[in-house]
Amino acid sequence: MLTLSQENANNKKLAELDAIALPTARLIVAELAAAGFDAIITWAFRSDTVQGKIVKGTHAAAGWSFHGFRLALDFGILVGGKYVTDGRHPGYLKMGEIGKKHGWTWGGDWDHIDPDHIEYHPGENPHEAIRRVRKENGYA
Ligand SMILES: [Zn+2]
Repeated sequence: MLTLSQENANNKKLAELDAIALPTARLIVAELAAAGFDAIITWAFRSDTVQGKIVKGTHAAAGWSFHGFRLALDFGILVGGKYVTDGRHPGYLKMGEIGKKHGWTWGGDWDHIDPDHIEYHPGENPHEAIRRVRKENGYA
């Protein structure tokens, strides 16, 4: 079980999301807990400045991440209070399964695997969706 302060931190991160993604995000968090996994949200919103600083590996460039548009979540699975870095852990697989059930896209399905990441653009592939969202938000 998460501690009260971990739950509060999760709720704070959830509040960073776009309202369109929030209802299903809350369900994902609740269903992961009900499945017996301790899942903390490590990232919800990331500014372009922050995104620009952490670009490496699987991270998108600034302006090209759904985190920048409040439509993505990263989770950390805890076992005995310790962060599990192995993306093959059942907690990450469950997170992907529950996320997909609620219309989210799971980074664990990608070629450049990103098992702790889910993003919300139901019915659209990530490439179409990021172009649409950038346009809606005044990016070139
Ligand atoms: Zn992410």
